[in-house]
Amino acid sequence: MTVQEETAPVPVLRVRDLVKEYGEGDARVRALRGVSLDVERGDYVAVMGASGSGKSTLMNILGCLDVPTSGTYLIDGADAGRLDEHQLAVLRNRRVGFVFQSFNLIPRMSALANVELPLVYGGVALAARRERALAALEQVGLADRVHHEPNQLSGGQQQRVALARALVNRPALLLADEPTGNLDTASTRDVLEIMDRLSASGRTIVLITHEDDVAAHAKRVIRLVDGEVVEDRRQAPVDGPPPRLPQGEDAA
Ligand code: ADP
Ligand code: MG
Repeated sequence: MTVQEETAPVPVLRVRDLVKEYGEGDARVRALRGVSLDVERGDYVAVMGASGSGKSTLMNILGCLDVPTSGTYLIDGADAGRLDEHQLAVLRNRRVGFVFQSFNLIPRMSALANVELPLVYGGVALAARRERALAALEQVGLADRVHHEPNQLSGGQQQRVALARALVNRPALLLADEPTGNLDTASTRDVLEIMDRLSASGRTIVLITHEDDVAAHAKRVIRLVDGEVVEDRRQAPVDGPPPRLPQGEDAA
């Protein structure tokens, strides 16, 4: 993997003129119309916008799940456009943690096995895998649910398993697409509190949401309208500094 050597700190994300078009001819949709932004290490960014404004398209490209029509983006200094399929898969596995609205856990596999999966792909040995997965589940408050399967867990608990899975590789970037979109108020609060603690411990987070209450937790808000950035502002966090994470959590 080509990682750019620089003396200045490399931003976690450097995005320039991203364009994404779907379809051909009359059916063509321009989902992103030239998006540029940088995200520095430790930032907590909420990407907001109405349904159809291009939020998921942007997240899928940033997370190397999709490729842009044109434009460039560097993740942790690595130019994603210059990587082959295999290198992209490695980048995605090692540097990015994903959380989706619909949890996307594997059914009939325990919470523990779900959280271990990225480590299986990463070739981590069994004992180390188990230890790290257990620690990640503990971090999200699910130490007592590790052998439960997704259908034996509430939505909020499933999303916390998904968070543990996203974090188990200690990614440079946590990407969350409407992570509280399917949750009730109490579960939303639990998930946001975990993200607040992660942010306080130095994690870099990009969260996608169309809800003001959720965006209020971020340090910075970027607003998309029809595939363009129309606003990019810093804001004070909602509450005071959140409680510290349990020991063992490093600032990545
Ligand atoms: P958001 O997440 O903000 O709701 P999306 O990124 O999902 O928005 O979609 C942006 C635009 O791109 C919408 O007009 C949507 O219909 C279109 N779009 C998204 N994915 C596809 C696709 N796979 N094929 C065609 N059009 C798509
Ligand atoms: Mg979306």
